[in-house]
Amino acid sequence: MSRMNRRIVLASRPHGAASADNFRLETVPVPEPGEGEVLIRHRFLSLDPYMRGRMSEAKSYAAPQPLGEVMIGGTAGEVIASRHAGYREGDSVVSMGGWQEYSIARGDAGALAPRKVDARRAPLSAFLGVLGMPGVTAWYGLNAICEPKPGETVAVSAASGAVGGVVGQLAKLKGCRVVGVAGGREKCDYVVRELGFDACIDYKAAADVRALGEQLAAAAPAGIDGYFENVGGAVLDAVLPLMNAFGRIAVCGMISSYDGSPAPLANPMLILRSRLKVQGFIVAEHPSAWPQAMAEIGAALAAGKLKYRESVAEGIERAPEAFLGLLTGRNFGKQLVKLG
Ligand code: NDP
Repeated sequence: MSRMNRRIVLASRPHGAASADNFRLETVPVPEPGEGEVLIRHRFLSLDPYMRGRMSEAKSYAAPQPLGEVMIGGTAGEVIASRHAGYREGDSVVSMGGWQEYSIARGDAGALAPRKVDARRAPLSAFLGVLGMPGVTAWYGLNAICEPKPGETVAVSAASGAVGGVVGQLAKLKGCRVVGVAGGREKCDYVVRELGFDACIDYKAAADVRALGEQLAAAAPAGIDGYFENVGGAVLDAVLPLMNAFGRIAVCGMISSYDGSPAPLANPMLILRSRLKVQGFIVAEHPSAWPQAMAEIGAALAAGKLKYRESVAEGIERAPEAFLGLLTGRNFGKQLVKLG
C-alpha cells in the first residue's frame, strides 16, 4: 500500500475571527519526486501570524492563499528521497512545505529551494524559530530600524513570543534598558526572570490605555527610544506618548487587528511632535540580512546568552487549533506542530 500524506487545506475564508471551519484535513498518497526534486518528511511545522493574512482576500503585500490548497507554512524535516545532486537522503532541511506531513521541493528553486541545516548544532525546531525567520525578523527590525544605542530604552510588544523574546534579549546585549509588554503575569514573569528584560507590563491587567501608559512610563523613566511593534491597537496608543524625540518604531506586526477591522491610532500627531521614524518591514524582502543575523544570533545562543521557548502541538490534525491559539495568545513562545 502506498504511503499516505495528511494535509490541511484552506476550506473557506474567514469573515472576522478565523475558526476551525476554515480548514479541512485531507489524506492523499505521498507523491514521488521527479527529476530535480526531493521528497521531504516534515518533523515540525511552523505556525506564524502572517498566515492569517494569507487566508483573506484583502489587499496585502502577498497574494492570498488559494482555496482548496495546502496552507502555506515553513517546515523542518529530512530528505527521504532525492533526485537532485545537491541533496542526499537524511539531509536535514528547512523549506516552505506547508501544513502537511510530506512535501516535494525542487532543488533548483533558488531562494525557495530547501535550505540544509546542521541539526547537530541546534534542535531541528530551532531553525523555525530563533535560528530561522522569526530570529531574523527580530534582528532586522531591531538593528535596521530601531537602531538601539547603549543606554537607550527599547520597548517590545508580544514580548514572550518568538520574535519579541529575541528582540528584547538582543537589545539587552546591546546595553539597552528593555521593557516588554505581554499578556498575563506568567508571560511577564518569564520575560523578566528568564529572558532578562528590565521590566514587563501585563497589558491585559491594565484597566485602559491611560493605565497602561502610566505603567509603561514607570518602567521607562527616561522615555522610549526604540519601539518594536508586534501588536498595534491600545499598546501602540500607550507607547506613542512615551517616545523620545527622534525615536524609531519598527512596525513588524499588528496582530490585534488581524482578525477584524483596523484599529485607529488615537493621536498620530505625536509622530510629528516627537519627530519619529515609523517604518514597516517584511523580513522576506531582506534576504541579505540572514548571514549577519544568523551569525550574531548563533553566537549568542552558543554562548548561552539567548533563550527561547516553544509551544508544541502534536500531530497535523492539531494545526488549526494551535494556529487559532496563536492568534489569541494561547501560545507561550514559538508555536510549532510536531509531526511523525
Ligand atoms: P508570537 O509568538 O509573538 O505569538 C503571537 C502573540 O501575539 C501571542 O502570543 C499574543 O501574546 C500576541 N497577541 C495576540 N493577540 C493580541 C492582541 N489582540 N493584542 C496584543 N497582543 C496579542 O508570534 P511571532 O513572534 O511569530 O510574531 C509576532 C509578531 O511579528 C506578529 O505580529 C507577526 O505578524 C509579526 N511578524 C512580522 C514579520 C515581518 O516580516 N514583518 C515576520 C514575522 C512575524 P500575548 O499573550 O502577550 O498577548
